[in-house]
Amino acid sequence: MSLFDSPAFENHEGVHAFCDPEHGLKAIIAIHSTARGPAAGGCRMWAYPDEQAAMDDALRLSRAMSYKNAVADIELGGGKAVIIGDSRLHKTPGLFESFGRAVDSLGGRYWSAEDVGISPADLAHTRVTTRYVAGLEGHPAASGDPSPVTAEGIKRGVELCVQKVYGRGLEGVEIAIQGVGHVGAYLADKLAAAGARLTIADVDEEAVREVAARTGARVVPPSAIFDVDAQVFAPCAMGGAITRASVQRLKGKIVAGGANNQLGDPEAGRLLHDRGILYAPDFVINGGGIINIAGEIRALERDEAFDPAWVEIKLSRMVETLREVLDRAQSEDRLPAEIAIETAKARIAAAKAG
Ligand code: NAD
Repeated sequence: MSLFDSPAFENHEGVHAFCDPEHGLKAIIAIHSTARGPAAGGCRMWAYPDEQAAMDDALRLSRAMSYKNAVADIELGGGKAVIIGDSRLHKTPGLFESFGRAVDSLGGRYWSAEDVGISPADLAHTRVTTRYVAGLEGHPAASGDPSPVTAEGIKRGVELCVQKVYGRGLEGVEIAIQGVGHVGAYLADKLAAAGARLTIADVDEEAVREVAARTGARVVPPSAIFDVDAQVFAPCAMGGAITRASVQRLKGKIVAGGANNQLGDPEAGRLLHDRGILYAPDFVINGGGIINIAGEIRALERDEAFDPAWVEIKLSRMVETLREVLDRAQSEDRLPAEIAIETAKARIAAAKAG
């Protein structure tokens, strides 16, 4: 299949391939849109089965970043980088410096950050060869780990959904969290502090033990998390958790969590709607992390220190956008994800029109 035939291709502005055998770099940087500002999105390192799979991932993820950045109302377009390789075996400082040269060659049209398989320590090597990288630590503009901000946005989004569906606050509400890694663990802390009653599951037994000890959460095996009698299901693990089969098992009326690409098949969103389950579109509710990264890019561009107050303004605005999306979905009897994509596309088109 060629680039232009890929189902993930949607008029991307540029797709750039980089190869540096000396440092073992094979990477693709996809720029979906720079209409709202330089393209921004993390770099993923993954042992893709073939180059087509890597390209499809870069195309799909960069398009999703355009939508996420537009609904978060930050002045950034959408882009994503993928490095082909096993992050447990193939990382070297030279690889990340080489990746930095690739990013730099785009002259600031793309800003990189962490994604699956990449840590702030890896990006410190990338910073040696390019300034177009954020999500770092240890300098005045640095924004650090985005996960607590992602979790704060999700907590506020869950609160909004609970108010909308059940007409109450979080106190005493039963919430099931799938995955208590970076985002899920911070979310559990925040929801427990607000008085919610939690059930958690993770394939990492130590992670569940730690979070349960801190929050008093009940623990169930990963395979049982969909069957929990909870008002809210919060997917915070990998993508694709919401399928036609898993929707049938949910007991509550809300799906709202941090994972990217939660809908495992196109019909799952329709089925949620038909079963009267409110779905908070993932790329709207989990935008807190990229807002935090945008705060770092903004500070670097202005040669200023990171400003948490700016991040708070954008985070509040993000929750308001979620409210508008859910209100419209209800009044027009349409899927929230459809409305969210429409909102993102309209904002991108308006920026293009000038
Ligand atoms: P993470 O790797 O720290 O956490 C994921 C957790 O899910 C791990 O603890 C893992 O053991 C667990 N897990 C994997 N498979 C599971 C399963 N089948 N059942 C239960 N648990 C399972 O990642 P993270 O940074 O917390 O991100 C979680 C999700 O949120 C990802 O989809 C990510 O793309 C998305 N996201 C993260 C951020 C951020 O700021 N970190 C921002 C936006 C979106």
